[in-house]
Amino acid sequence: MAGDLHTHTTFSDGSYSPEELVAAAKKISLHYLGITDHDTVDGVRQLYENGLYPGRGVNIIPGVELSANHPTRDIHIVGYNVDIYNEALLEIIEKVIEARWERFSEIIRILQTKKYNIREADVLKIAGTSRSIGRAHIARTLVKIGAFKNVREAFEKMLGKGKPAYVPRYLPEVDELIDVIHQAGGSATLAHPKLVGDDELVEELCKKLDGLEVYYPCHKPEDTQHYFFLARKYNLLIAGGSDFHGTSSRFVENLGDFTISDALAQKFFVKPVN
Ligand SMILES: [Zn+2]
Ligand SMILES: [Zn+2]
Repeated sequence: MAGDLHTHTTFSDGSYSPEELVAAAKKISLHYLGITDHDTVDGVRQLYENGLYPGRGVNIIPGVELSANHPTRDIHIVGYNVDIYNEALLEIIEKVIEARWERFSEIIRILQTKKYNIREADVLKIAGTSRSIGRAHIARTLVKIGAFKNVREAFEKMLGKGKPAYVPRYLPEVDELIDVIHQAGGSATLAHPKLVGDDELVEELCKKLDGLEVYYPCHKPEDTQHYFFLARKYNLLIAGGSDFHGTSSRFVENLGDFTISDALAQKFFVKPVN
């Protein structure tokens, strides 16, 4: 088996705890596992503090997926090999999480005015250990109460950008994120460039970044080829991952369904010092 550099746990909007994710990776003999929760390093920290990272059986690459401010596009930057105790990183994460809580309350208020029978407590129950409360948790709650068929529909009709219950939140600028990731000793990679939806913007970003997620489940062969070309042109690390969330609403259902070669994945692996 090979590597998967992009996965989520229950500390953001994934359904596997960090321990379950690591166990699942070992079970399929994955060599490299990047853990890249949205706006938090708590999952990696839990593994580290419980003596599971560094661990045997699978090489864990600590990461964090941060969203950058942009008027119309979703730009997600993954910081790989960040120091999970770095002050600048933790400070920006705190700010972002605070803004998530504010947005969360506002979305629930809007949904209630639209007669959806949903309370903050219902969403928090679904969010479990996650402090990084996001629209995915709200969407899952809406599906649970029967308001929508699935998470995708909830986004398309209610929660997505420009939809009735969409509420923007504070997001740091791209440059700020790259700077913080560098301060934390990490490398900054643009996640799922195709989902940005603007290849000119992607190329602009490539000039500032350290890596590009060339391999991603929804990339068509020509997309992969294009991003591979860009990565080469700007001398970027070539990343790839499944964006595994442990839920069927995402691109892959099972860990191991989408992987990259060891040769690529190992470039992201820094042997941790004990
Ligand atoms: Zn993302
Ligand atoms: Zn992701």
